[in-house]
Amino acid sequence: MTARSIAILGATGSIGTSTLDLVEREPDRFRVTTLTAQRDVDGLAAAARRTGAELAVIGDPARYDDLKAALAGTGIRAAAGVEAIVEAAAAGADWTMAAIVGIAGLRPTLAALAAGGTVALANKESLVSAGALMTDAARAHGATLLPVDSEHNAVFQCFDHAAPGSIRKVTLTASGGPFRDWSIEAMRAATPAQAVRHPNWSMGAKISVDSATLMNKGLELIEAFHLFPLPPEAFDAIIHPQSVVHALVDYIDGSVLAQLGTPDMRTPIAHSLAWPQRMATPCRRLDLATVGRLDFLAPDLERFPALAIALDVLAAGGARPAILNAANEVAVAAFLDGRIGFLDIALIVRKALERYDPPAPASLDDIFAIDAGARRAAQATMEVMTA
Ligand code: NAD
Ligand code: MG
Repeated sequence: MTARSIAILGATGSIGTSTLDLVEREPDRFRVTTLTAQRDVDGLAAAARRTGAELAVIGDPARYDDLKAALAGTGIRAAAGVEAIVEAAAAGADWTMAAIVGIAGLRPTLAALAAGGTVALANKESLVSAGALMTDAARAHGATLLPVDSEHNAVFQCFDHAAPGSIRKVTLTASGGPFRDWSIEAMRAATPAQAVRHPNWSMGAKISVDSATLMNKGLELIEAFHLFPLPPEAFDAIIHPQSVVHALVDYIDGSVLAQLGTPDMRTPIAHSLAWPQRMATPCRRLDLATVGRLDFLAPDLERFPALAIALDVLAAGGARPAILNAANEVAVAAFLDGRIGFLDIALIVRKALERYDPPAPASLDDIFAIDAGARRAAQATMEVMTA
């Protein structure tokens, strides 16, 4: 068996390091060729040295000299800058993990799809903003797009081989995040440190805040719409505090299939690494007797307006998802910076959607123009709020 070549875009993040953990356990099966990161030179260089990667790319050009120094004498090539990341993705590996956070992942992920290999997608923001473009690119280049997001990976596992017309509904579960039981008043004063302290999952800062607002579930419903051939109204979300059931697929005959597991991203990552086979992971095994009970409740759209906004955006389509995503990225960054309050995030997204209503995108340039317009709209709202 020849080892599969592996590229990891966003190798130093939460998903990137979980992917490395799995890949490094089976060196005969996986051969790391390319690793990228934005700023963490030490993390990138250490991973490249450990895996014997061929190429390490740092996004921030100011860190190029540091990267070269860290890789001196190893024979590992160093590169820097946005274009170098896109080029590295375009070189194509048998299997690419797309784990850059935010719209910054869009061009590299599209480049990996154009290379025609298998792309394991964690970078949900790309699919939200440019879903049709990405699925078209996958089809046009014969690439295989596999969902890594735990809920979507769960749907995929319950969906495989379903005949058209046989599925009625897809339900994604949400833990409810750290503020699941908080009052609106308490959330008004929530700090970034409180928002990123997720009860079940350990994740990057941006997705942790998205989980606290439930925007993450909204983004995921739009993501699901692009991955699975069902109408917008076939997707919904349910709060499930234990994060054991990841998604449910409801068939026309009354059968409901679910995928269960302990909350560890290495399970869905392993599924996409080995697919259509399986591979062992060191994840804690699910022991239902210890879990004891599984709770489910309807989401509270009043305390978590971000989810309501995203549901409207999913139904509307067009340019709305790209606006939602861009305004949310701006607002989450401002919240993490301490410039706005927690409840302002959904408010800023709502205002951006009100202020800005361009026609549906037809090209990648259109997506980037909409993204930029939405960022300006969000920024303008923030300036009024913080004046
Ligand atoms: P993270 O912040 O931990 O890591 C992000 C990675 O992207 C890092 O390697 C960073 O260097 C790189 N990066 C950041 N900005 C960049 C830029 N402008 N250009 C190029 N590279 C850049 O994030 P994460 O939690 O690993 O999440 C990554 C993606 O996966 C996100 O889209 C997130 O929504 C999705 N996701 C994460 C989880 C999880 O459990 N962490 C679960 C499901 C989906
Ligand atoms: Mg998820």
